[in-house]
Amino acid sequence: MVAPTSPADIASLWQATSVARPAFGSLASDHAFDVAIIGGGYTGLSTARYLAKSGLSPVVLEAQRIGWGASGRNGGVVSGKFRIGFKDIAARHGIDTARRMHALGMEAIEHVGQLIEELGMEGADYRPSGSLRCAHNPHTLDVLKSEAAWLRETLGDRGVSMLDAGAVAEETGARGFAGGMLNHHGGVIHPLNFVRGLAAGLKAQGIALFESTPVVRVGREGAGIVAETPAGRITARQLVIATNSYSDLTPATAPVRKAIIPFRSAMIATEPLAGTPAAGLLSTGRSYTETRRMMRWFRKSGDRLLYGGRGAFGKTDTESAFAALEKAMRRQFPALAGVKVTHRWSGLVAMTLDSLPHLGRLDDRVVYALGYNGTGVALASGIGRHVAALVAGSQPDLGLLTRQPLASIPFYGLREPAVRLVAGWYQFLDAIGR
Ligand SMILES: Cc1cc2nc3c(=O)[nH]c(=O)nc-3n(C[C@H](O)[C@H](O)[C@H](O)COP(=O)(O)OP(=O)(O)OC[C@H]3O[C@@H](n4cnc5c(N)ncnc54)[C@H](O)[C@@H]3O)c2cc1C
Repeated sequence: MVAPTSPADIASLWQATSVARPAFGSLASDHAFDVAIIGGGYTGLSTARYLAKSGLSPVVLEAQRIGWGASGRNGGVVSGKFRIGFKDIAARHGIDTARRMHALGMEAIEHVGQLIEELGMEGADYRPSGSLRCAHNPHTLDVLKSEAAWLRETLGDRGVSMLDAGAVAEETGARGFAGGMLNHHGGVIHPLNFVRGLAAGLKAQGIALFESTPVVRVGREGAGIVAETPAGRITARQLVIATNSYSDLTPATAPVRKAIIPFRSAMIATEPLAGTPAAGLLSTGRSYTETRRMMRWFRKSGDRLLYGGRGAFGKTDTESAFAALEKAMRRQFPALAGVKVTHRWSGLVAMTLDSLPHLGRLDDRVVYALGYNGTGVALASGIGRHVAALVAGSQPDLGLLTRQPLASIPFYGLREPAVRLVAGWYQFLDAIGR
């Protein structure tokens, strides 16, 4: 059944600072379309956009509200990276594959800017300010140095450079980093306004979208498929599953559910920093990540500091997990003493067995695009081009995304204790500096 979470919105900073929500009705009768899309996040909306461009009639079916999933709650870091570094990809799969994946990331970033301009999304507040990866010890700094050199020399990527410890301290105001790798590609965005802007653009084009419309069952009928919802049926020639980390809300997405490990990721935001000793923090407007396994990351939005991390978060949010995140933030930024935390929220990141997103076909009628492993803002919001091509019968080349099969997680029933075990182990390794 649909998760008991109310479609009433997540109490995030993004909700508190969002543009008006484009409203959509729920499905109340039967309809026919060329393609039914399950999921109203970046992936589903992007897919609808490109299917409509190709002359097909798509419909987006969203169980809750547009952007209710990760697309409306994420950190808004626009990046062309994957969870696996390009150097590792080259070592495991060859240099041509690494080049293709790198190009894919760059295209995805470029597409974000084009989309915002095309749809006139002012609220998206996109700042192409780049990102800085901060090394938490000398060993990880060496790894970053070698990665930056490889990216420049082998892939010809001139958008990366190194900063020493002093420069990182000056730029971040944070303690204890050994140095960092500056990446000029990408930047930061208001993620909820971005997904709402995308939906508003579809609405203006007359593309069909239904909220509060969970697909509860999918079946095959004649030469097509049928998607059943509580108050109406959609018949279509093809179906696209775009439910990423929320693929277990109903049995309709059961065929992909076991390929995804949902991993909770949480964020906190401070009150505006003007007039406090922390007013000058993170003035470049970049996003920052750490090299720890249980990564913490931070950025500014408006005049507030946002701090996020994965870690001691289980199936639901807990007071103690948020308290641990806040403690880590205050330890890193002593200037925040006395500054209040005003917003706390979380969402699910979709991990896959090979740490990569996947685009492919389950059968002749069902396509999926999911598994972004926490880096889907740029990629998912533009992936519709490739999904539409796949639906139309071509074979898009997205490197490992299309070449590797979507594998099910072995011992899926044990995923929750396993995630906790792995998280605990990573925290231990981070704590002892390994
Ligand atoms: C806390 C957090 C921080 C993150 N930070 C970043 C970041 O800074 N940068 C970055 O690149 N990535 C980040 N990510 C990842 C990024 O948000 C996702 O990769 C991206 O939003 C995926 O978009 P999507 O459309 O595929 O999925 P979602 O936006 O999750 O959309 C899936 C939708 O499917 C709907 N659905 C599920 N089942 C059904 C059903 N049966 N019927 C109808 N609808 C259904 C859900 O309600 C949901 O709205 C973060 C994720 C989280 C959770």
